Amino acid sequence: MSVWLQKILCNGWVRKNRKNSDAYLKPVILRFSKDLKGKLNMTGNIYQEAMSRLDQAAAYADIDPEAVLKLKHPKACLQVSIPVRMDDGSLKIFTGFRVHHNDVRGPTKGGIRFHPDVSLDEVKSLAFWMTIKCAVVGIPFGGGKGGVIVDPKSLSRLELERLSRGYIEQVANFIGPDVDIPAPDVYTNAMIMGWMMDEYSKIARCLSPAVITGKPIPLGGSLGREDATARGGYYCIKEIEKKRKWDPRQIRVAVQGFGNAGQHIADMLYQDGYQIVAISDSKGGIYRQQGFDVPSIVHVKNSSKELQAVYCEGSVCQLVEAEIITNEQLLELDVDLLIPAALENQITGENAAKIKASVIVELANGPTTVDADAILQKKSVLVVPDILANAGGVTVSYFEWVQNKSGYYWRLETIDERLKEIMLREFNNVYELMESHQVHMRTAAYIHALNRQAEAVVALGTQSYFSSQPHSEQAKRASVQEKV
Ligand code: NAD
Repeated sequence: MSVWLQKILCNGWVRKNRKNSDAYLKPVILRFSKDLKGKLNMTGNIYQEAMSRLDQAAAYADIDPEAVLKLKHPKACLQVSIPVRMDDGSLKIFTGFRVHHNDVRGPTKGGIRFHPDVSLDEVKSLAFWMTIKCAVVGIPFGGGKGGVIVDPKSLSRLELERLSRGYIEQVANFIGPDVDIPAPDVYTNAMIMGWMMDEYSKIARCLSPAVITGKPIPLGGSLGREDATARGGYYCIKEIEKKRKWDPRQIRVAVQGFGNAGQHIADMLYQDGYQIVAISDSKGGIYRQQGFDVPSIVHVKNSSKELQAVYCEGSVCQLVEAEIITNEQLLELDVDLLIPAALENQITGENAAKIKASVIVELANGPTTVDADAILQKKSVLVVPDILANAGGVTVSYFEWVQNKSGYYWRLETIDERLKEIMLREFNNVYELMESHQVHMRTAAYIHALNRQAEAVVALGTQSYFSSQPHSEQAKRASVQEKV
């Protein structure tokens, strides 16, 4: 039986609540075998890159090889077709994915991305990074991820709701509060998480807030989840500020991507006096040597969807002088701190040599390629890797899940305090490993994660355990036990 099918059958409620569960499962299984069979061995670039980083780090980590072997194979991958009735009456079929990468440390956890470039290969890589990320910050989850190939900006609100609910209908057997717990990612938000939780609860015939995190507060969301990804990165930056004795007023910052992660980090740093000199979104960027008034730009971006160089007093906003730049130019600006907060593969072998920032804090997942890493290391650029820098999001998602499961909700101060404690502890653990092993911070973060991952794998037994006791010795013991 495939792992995928086992997974479905593990979901007790399907058996309990679906009168004819075989009939219900059949179309999904057929679709799985037809569409996905040939694609499970996909070896696209981004996944290969992720695996080569794993190999690099594993060479430094003194761990059981079985832990690395298991990480190289995602536990299960699901591809689905989602029929959506459009506003004009037509029917469109969207393709979606959900991947469970590894669940040895806990149920799989990871966001759902709505983007035209989503692919199974990308989702597999993102799921792998989630396994590593949860281990870096020591939270009891494995890695998962999901996505739908769609340009959500082209959908009406009603179409977006139907697509979100349709996705859950197709993956409902594959997720669950103790199995796999989705969350928001690029172009998905709290409202979408609310629709998805509601749809899952209808299918499961019981209110299941713990099936998904990043929900609106009235639907069981957690205080502090909205800005948690940025806040985790912010705590990392505050540690660097101490180590490098930075005066925030002298530090020039460029932020690529101005959505959830980008807006919140820009605002947090601005409030501390950092100069936010460049910001961009998918359409391009703006640069101003004297720095921007970030709250004004956030206000206009969220009300008009346009990124504009503005200064607002109350509700009256006026344009300020600024240069229009491309996303590529933003990365190469003369700044001290560069924060990629958009998509993967932005800093590459092509442009890494031109990067002038001395510190990069990766709020986006996978913004730096393997060849770029080598160049940045030679230039002594400190890169705080995604698996640490943006782990605040999954950490507060974990808090949300704990609150949903216990039905007891925490104050914002408690959440921030607990997030800060985890981020500072793990940032400093990784920093110490970086110094003691003389490696760059990404490798140090992988070593840290691999140690935790390996502890769990070893606890279940590996070859070194099972083959260390001679068979005859085992047989003798068994016969003694039988006699007793
Ligand atoms: P979002 O949808 O809120 O915002 C994405 C932003 O990136 C938008 O401003 C968009 O215009 C911009 N963008 C899209 N394509 C771009 C391009 N080619 N160049 C420059 N900008 C572009 O998404 P988000 O939640 O802020 O996620 C951003 C990154 O952070 C992603 O890599 C995501 O995986 C990662 N991340 C997010 C969370 C979270 O909790 N939201 C957690 C961990 C990691």
